[in-house]
Amino acid sequence: MDCLFCKIVAKEIPAEIVYENDAVLAFRDIQPVAPTHILVIPKKHIATANAIDASDRSLMGEMFLAAKEVARLEGLSERGHRLVMNVGEGGGQSVFHIHLHVIGGRDVSWPPG
Ligand code: 5GP
Ligand code: ZN
Repeated sequence: MDCLFCKIVAKEIPAEIVYENDAVLAFRDIQPVAPTHILVIPKKHIATANAIDASDRSLMGEMFLAAKEVARLEGLSERGHRLVMNVGEGGGQSVFHIHLHVIGGRDVSWPPG
């Protein structure tokens, strides 16, 4: 499958991996928008949050548990950080393999741009 993040899972494209288990992978975003910017992805290809189904219930939980662990490893947990998932083109998604952005290390504003 011609998917950038599946290629990162397969280690065909290099990435700076910060956390990995059987279900998920976390690696640094190539164009960080904050001092810490990490993407948490399932190893299974799912295009968007609109493509999940009931069989992905525990996998979605794995993504949040991994994001928590990434925040701990990066020292973000105490100050707080932002978890973002862009969904579809209209939601700002550019890579169609579901991913959670872990963004931290600077002040953030609301609403986002
Ligand atoms: P989206 O816009 O889909 O929510 O987020 C996709 C993210 O993937 C962007 O923040 C972008 O910088 C990142 N990205 C795109 N290509 C690569 C790549 O080849 N390697 C890494 N590590 N990140 C990438
Ligand atoms: Zn994929």
